[in-house]
Amino acid sequence: MLDLIIIGSGPAGLSAAIYGIRANLNLLVIEKEFEGTGQIALSSKVDNYLGLPGLDGYSMGEKFREHAVNFGVQFLEATVTEISQDESDKHWKVTTFKGETYEAKTIIYAAGAVHRHLGVPGEDAFSAKGVSYCATCDGAFYRGKTTAVVGGGDTALDDALYLSALCEKVYLIHRRDAFRAAEITVNKVKEKENIELVLNSQVEEILGDEKVNSVRLIGGRELAIDGIFIAAGSVPVSRLLEDVVLLNPAGYVIADETGVTSAPGFFAAGDVRAKQLRQVVTAVSDGANAVTSVTKYLETL
Ligand code: NAP
Repeated sequence: MLDLIIIGSGPAGLSAAIYGIRANLNLLVIEKEFEGTGQIALSSKVDNYLGLPGLDGYSMGEKFREHAVNFGVQFLEATVTEISQDESDKHWKVTTFKGETYEAKTIIYAAGAVHRHLGVPGEDAFSAKGVSYCATCDGAFYRGKTTAVVGGGDTALDDALYLSALCEKVYLIHRRDAFRAAEITVNKVKEKENIELVLNSQVEEILGDEKVNSVRLIGGRELAIDGIFIAAGSVPVSRLLEDVVLLNPAGYVIADETGVTSAPGFFAAGDVRAKQLRQVVTAVSDGANAVTSVTKYLETL
């Protein structure tokens, strides 16, 4: 039986893997997508990770994964469909979509979070036909065109800046008049002549025929656009955990920085954990801490 299964291969999972190998644990990382490195891969630029300024998120993810591969970490590409604990000796069983099972004494759950949808008419209908959740992936399709970005956090403002270099015009639609993003980013956005701030505004409907051609805001204003990038934050990937560990009302796993959850032998790390700041640096730190908790727990068995 394995000492540890790490579910998730973003910065938290990869950091846990590196610390786990160094702690001599017999471990497996289950990754949902082949060589996937989580949400960081979608970030156009990460400017606040110590020692690696200005790197794009995809390259940063690649560097992290390469580090883990060089340490001999074993990866399995699979979608986890069930996590359960054996009644007799309390070891953990992970079942995948293909029906395979993997057993371990401990789990570090680092499955992260996914894009929040606005839930407005037209959003699903025009998905990949003008509605996108990743400016760095899809921005190039809108060269010389007009786009909108929805949200007021770092992702939305980074996306607006990224798109402003490609598009003729970018509307930044935010439901309040104050941004959550770092002030330095807000100031850069305000300096861009082709970014128009549309504040105190919410999307009512995304419209088009074969592709998006406009967005209607609550109140009736309609903006002609070729594409819309939704950057409204994220929701935790924790649906499988409802009967496994305690979650907070928003669905995040309740655990402090040690990663210790309500279930013995089950630890949480990264964006899926209830915490103040979701950044690469906190995810990486979580992974390291969770392994320390795993090794302490294994000593008690
Ligand atoms: P976020 O900080 O949670 O911001 C989400 C934004 O979407 C908020 O402005 C929120 O509005 C808005 N929003 C949420 N639901 C909405 C809805 N239904 N309709 C309209 N607007 C909605 O998410 P994020 O920007 O993805 O950032 C996540 C974390 O990653 C943050 O900690 C951020 O600092 C970090 N990050 C850092 C960088 C960087 O440092 N370069 C880049 C990207 C992300 P309200 O403000 O009104 O709540």
